[in-house]
Amino acid sequence: MSNSSLVDLTILSPNHSGNRKQKITRITVHCTACLVTAYRIGTIFQPRSRNASCNYGIGTDLKVVMCVPESMRSWCSSSNDNDQRAVTIEAASSNVKPYEFAPGVYEKTIELCVDICKRNGKKKVVYISDQNKALKYQPAEDEMLLTFHRWFSKTKSCPGDWFMQRAASFAGEINKRLNPTPEPEQYYIIKPGDTLTKIAKLYNTSVPMLMTLNPKITNKNKIKAGDIIRVK
Ligand SMILES: [Zn+2]
Repeated sequence: MSNSSLVDLTILSPNHSGNRKQKITRITVHCTACLVTAYRIGTIFQPRSRNASCNYGIGTDLKVVMCVPESMRSWCSSSNDNDQRAVTIEAASSNVKPYEFAPGVYEKTIELCVDICKRNGKKKVVYISDQNKALKYQPAEDEMLLTFHRWFSKTKSCPGDWFMQRAASFAGEINKRLNPTPEPEQYYIIKPGDTLTKIAKLYNTSVPMLMTLNPKITNKNKIKAGDIIRVK
């Protein structure tokens, strides 16, 4: 099991339960409820007395700190059952409701989740708003379930309403990046006076790319008006 290559700094926390006893099938995004840098997130979880940690933290400086290696169970979500399965991420947020994430942190969290999914062989994140349904859901081998701290602790609103309102589109954006749809093919009818260079410019591509897309063109200087060529 690997750790994220997006990690900028590692400040290991002693607050963990060693290796996971369950496979990774979940991601739990948390809000820090204080505007802190990645370094500060790391130092917050250093004292044993804190009794808490996370796998990764994303600071206001948009740096990623690793506090507990991904292979280990962090102490983050008030639930052994969840933390055994989840990669936990603390995202820097405001200290007041609805705990809006610091600028850029939401985007960085998406990037980190895409990376976590890819390295763990997941092609899809699943967001189910209903807590009971979500916790009963059995993710397929290539699925990652999103879970939330508030589901496991009555006193926590983590990750905050700001993020919860975006949870569906958060999942959608991750899935889009995990499974990018190829650009649809596009065609062009050659007009008198056209050159491949001119057509390439028009479609923001290159002459070699047009040649690759159109194997029947063997000489780039010989194109015929009226012919249809593929440009994308
Ligand atoms: Zn939390």
